[in-house]
Amino acid sequence: MIFCDSHTHSDNSFDAKNTVDEMCRAAIERGLSAIAVTDHCEAPFIRFGADCEFGSFDEQIPKSFADATLARDKYQGQLKVLRGMELGEPMHDLSCTEKALSYGDFDFILASVHGLRNMLDFYYMNYSGINIDDLLKRYFDEVCETAAFPHYDSLAHLTYPLRYIIAGTGKTPDLDKHADSIDAIFKILIKNKKALEINVSGLFKEMQTTLPDEALVRRFREHGGEYITIGTDAHSADMVGKGIAQGIEVARRAGFTQYAIYENHQPIMIDI
Ligand SMILES: [Zn+2]
Ligand SMILES: [Zn+2]
Repeated sequence: MIFCDSHTHSDNSFDAKNTVDEMCRAAIERGLSAIAVTDHCEAPFIRFGADCEFGSFDEQIPKSFADATLARDKYQGQLKVLRGMELGEPMHDLSCTEKALSYGDFDFILASVHGLRNMLDFYYMNYSGINIDDLLKRYFDEVCETAAFPHYDSLAHLTYPLRYIIAGTGKTPDLDKHADSIDAIFKILIKNKKALEINVSGLFKEMQTTLPDEALVRRFREHGGEYITIGTDAHSADMVGKGIAQGIEVARRAGFTQYAIYENHQPIMIDI
C-alpha cells in the first residue's frame, strides 16, 4: 500500500509549529511516499496585509512555496513533496483570491470554508443558543458556491463545522436534513472533475469519524465521484501520516479502488 498525505501545515501557517523540513522528515520516517504542504491562506484576510490576525499571507505563502520547493529538491527520490495551499473562503473576495493563487505555481489547491461571510471561523464560535440546522444550511450553501469555483483541485473537510459543533454541544447534528445541499455539492464536484477530500483529523477528535464520514464518501461514489484525496490536516510533525491508512480504508469500503495526489494540478491515481 502506498501512503500519501495531501493536507499538512508547516510553521508558515499561524496555527502550526514545525518547519516544512521537519514535516518531510516525519513523512519519510513513517514510510509515506508523498506529502502535500498546504499552508493556510484565508483569502479574504489578505487585504489586511501585515495587520492580519493570522499573520501576513503575503509573506507566509511565498515562504511556504519556497520551503516546499527546497524540500522537493532535497528529498527527490525519497519523498514526493507537492507544493500546495489551503485556500480558505475563495468566494468572499475574488480579487484577494486571485492574489492568493499568484503566490506560487502550485501543484495542489485545497478549497475550504472555515467561516461564513461576516461570521467567525466555526472553530471560535459558541454553539449555545444557536439554531444548528440553520447554521449548517448556510454553511452547505456556501460550500456549494465554493465547489463551483474553478481554481482548486480538492474540496477540503466537507463537514468541518461538525468538528466543533460535536465538541461544543456533545450532540451530532442530523445531516440527513441537508442531503439535498450535499448532493448538489457532489454533483458540482463530479461535473467539474474535482476531488473530495477525506480528512482524517476527526478520527482523533470528539467526532471520531473522517470528514466527511464513510456514508457521505459512499454517496459521492454512488453519484459518480471519481477523485478522492486523503489528508491528515497535520499541524505538527507528530501527526503527519497519522490516520491515512484508516482514510484509505474508508475510501475502499465506500467503493473506491484508487485515490489521487495532485502534481501540477493533474491527478496521479494510486491503487488501494
Ligand atoms: Zn481547513
Ligand atoms: Zn488544514
